[in-house]
Amino acid sequence: VAARTPLIAGNWKMNLDHREAVTLVQRLAWLLQDADHEQEDVEVAVFPPFTDLRAVQTLVTGDRIELAYGAQDLSPEDSGAYTGDVSGAFLSALGCSYVIVGHSERRTIHGEDDALVARKAAAALRHGLTPVVCVGEGLDVRQAGKHVEHTVAQLRGSLEGLSAEDTARVVVAYEPVWAIGTGEVASAEDAQEMCAVLRKDLAGAHGADVASGMRLLYGGSVKSSSAPELLAQEDVDGALVGGASLDADEFAKIVRFDA
Ligand code: PEP
Repeated sequence: VAARTPLIAGNWKMNLDHREAVTLVQRLAWLLQDADHEQEDVEVAVFPPFTDLRAVQTLVTGDRIELAYGAQDLSPEDSGAYTGDVSGAFLSALGCSYVIVGHSERRTIHGEDDALVARKAAAALRHGLTPVVCVGEGLDVRQAGKHVEHTVAQLRGSLEGLSAEDTARVVVAYEPVWAIGTGEVASAEDAQEMCAVLRKDLAGAHGADVASGMRLLYGGSVKSSSAPELLAQEDVDGALVGGASLDADEFAKIVRFDA
């Protein structure tokens, strides 16, 4: 099995302006620079609103803080008459490494479907960004016992048209919608089950080598108390953290696997 460095990703959603972003990143950097932890084995990334990215870039570059960052969305297009949209080229120029695509809030509130998510993932890759492609079932689907087929179909649709080489660069986040922002975290067994199923499907489509090297994250009400057990699962290679990433101390505890 290829080495998969765990990724702890903080999705700030529509919270914190650029001044508040500076405060949070500085505190986080201070908490994470402490020598007695295993941080070299974990990659940490934050996903602030677009308007904060320049401030985060300045801070990270200036202080040599080891923190990756990315945006929460991007346009499927590269430039032109798309008022209000943001090109992956601009994110790349700002030093972003990652971009979230297909978050359930974009799918639900903005009606994004798998085809659009796949175009966004392709746009990210075109600009050298790693897309964090989010998939996951709603409560009705879970209760009907259809979560596996639903999520597998969603992932296939969201990666449609990508080559094996491109797929290998994608990070997948399994985020059951019923667990996002609800305080109801999936069990470690559920997270493992779904990540294993998704990896198996990726192996079927692109080969075991590609699938075994890809990082699959769990997201949905992750806190420092639940993170260690989730992250200990064989096929769970990190966490996408929403609410808890707005608290630097709590987020740092998640990074440190400190329950
Ligand atoms: C998310 O926004 O991707 C998320 C998982 O949010 P929360 O941790 O707040 O459930």
